[in-house]
Amino acid sequence: MVDHWLKNTLNLCLPQSCLLCGGAVSQEYDLALCDHCMHELPLLGETCQQCANPLETQRETLGDFIHESALMQTRHCEQCIREQPGFDQTIAFFPYVAPFNYLVQAAKFDGKLATARLLGKLMAMQLVNCIDLLKPRPDGLLAVPLHPSRQRERGYNQALEIAIPVAKRLQIPLLNDLAGRTAATPPQTSLSLQQRKQNLQHAFVVHRDISGQHIVIIDDVMTSGTTVNALAKKLKQAGADEVSVWCFSRAEPPR
Ligand SMILES: [Zn+2]
Ligand SMILES: [Zn+2]
Repeated sequence: MVDHWLKNTLNLCLPQSCLLCGGAVSQEYDLALCDHCMHELPLLGETCQQCANPLETQRETLGDFIHESALMQTRHCEQCIREQPGFDQTIAFFPYVAPFNYLVQAAKFDGKLATARLLGKLMAMQLVNCIDLLKPRPDGLLAVPLHPSRQRERGYNQALEIAIPVAKRLQIPLLNDLAGRTAATPPQTSLSLQQRKQNLQHAFVVHRDISGQHIVIIDDVMTSGTTVNALAKKLKQAGADEVSVWCFSRAEPPR
């Protein structure tokens, strides 16, 4: 615990240099990246409007589209047509390829709190461009909860650290007490898709009635979507009218 705290504090206090190349940070953007790395970041191409499954290969880089809306969604993927997920819409911002896969892993497993915050700021920067297109406007943001034992071990919840700058920039309430995780599920990567679904069925609990509300689930990376799907179903059971998912990074789902 103290170790984590010390590492996180050092991460926040160290002089800011680009998290990817160590160069001088951009003066234009309030991010821990240099201008060059910032403009070279890859973007997702067209995605499924319900689950953000990439429908075509990534296109260009952030530098070319920095002021363009992050919404590049037109149709549904085969998986969503086959089986409707519990959430209504997903917005993903970046493909789960280098450097984002390294950044997400660092935010999750290496105690890099500053990296988690960077992911949140990048996401907020993209969202600001398209928030007016999102109807209805969300009533609140919910970071995917971690089980308390895992949060103690990690020292923080990376999804919450991503959600904090998003909530602040978009002026949407952060509802981090709305739901909790009741079961410490094993790392998702070690399980089959079927085992994951079973494991997650009772993993979340929603603490209050949210009738008529539009809730947005925030997560760091979405692969099969089973985690956010399980949480979305619980939110709907608690009365949510609409559930969206905003995830920093989207990986190709397993076939
Ligand atoms: Zn750089
Ligand atoms: Zn889909």
